[in-house]
Amino acid sequence: MTINFEKSGGLVPVIIQNSHTLQVLMLGYMNKEALEKTRSEGKVTFFSRSKNRLWTKGESSGNYLVVDEILEDCDNDTLLIKALPQGPTCHTGSTSCFSGEIAKGFIYELESVIEQRIGSNAEGSYTSRLFNSGVNKVAQKVGEEAVELVIEAKDNNIDLFKNEAADLLYHFLILLKTKSLKLEDIEAVLQGRHR
Ligand code: AMP
Ligand code: ZN
Ligand code: ZN
Ligand code: ZN
Repeated sequence: MTINFEKSGGLVPVIIQNSHTLQVLMLGYMNKEALEKTRSEGKVTFFSRSKNRLWTKGESSGNYLVVDEILEDCDNDTLLIKALPQGPTCHTGSTSCFSGEIAKGFIYELESVIEQRIGSNAEGSYTSRLFNSGVNKVAQKVGEEAVELVIEAKDNNIDLFKNEAADLLYHFLILLKTKSLKLEDIEAVLQGRHR
């Protein structure tokens, strides 16, 4: 399938989504040339209706949108681009042009930071050191954090509870990495049960 520019007078709407956090960042338009440039350079280029020319998002601010994935909708007249923003996407300085949009998928961003730390074997990194101490140590940490969370659940301090919940999630992500698993793999299991 290939996008049909003729259907909508040469320009198709393009939704930009953060590929890690899944936050909707902005909407722009592309003509054929803009899409080709986006594909070849790996950075989002729109056709700006106000500038009346190709506009590479970030061309003056440096806040480029680095392309991860380009998806077409069911009838090939709209694009969804998953990208990693190199800075705030909105010219007002906001992360998203839709100010109410929050980064619900921050856990994915954290997951990729954890993968980077493990991959780089950075000495100053707690993540990297814990991972290198082996699966048993990581599993033990998950157990400890789970117990701490249980203890806080019985108490009434919501901040302590939230902190322990965060500790558990973070260590849980590292444990997944010791099995070369992604959060997605676990989500697939949950989704499979749901059906
Ligand atoms: P930039 O492409 O980020 O270098 O910004 C260049 C110019 O494009 C800005 O001065 C704005 O006029 C416009 N602009 C930047 N980001 C956006 C956006 N998300 N939505 C609409 N216009 C934008
Ligand atoms: Zn459509
Ligand atoms: Zn904006
Ligand atoms: Zn803890």
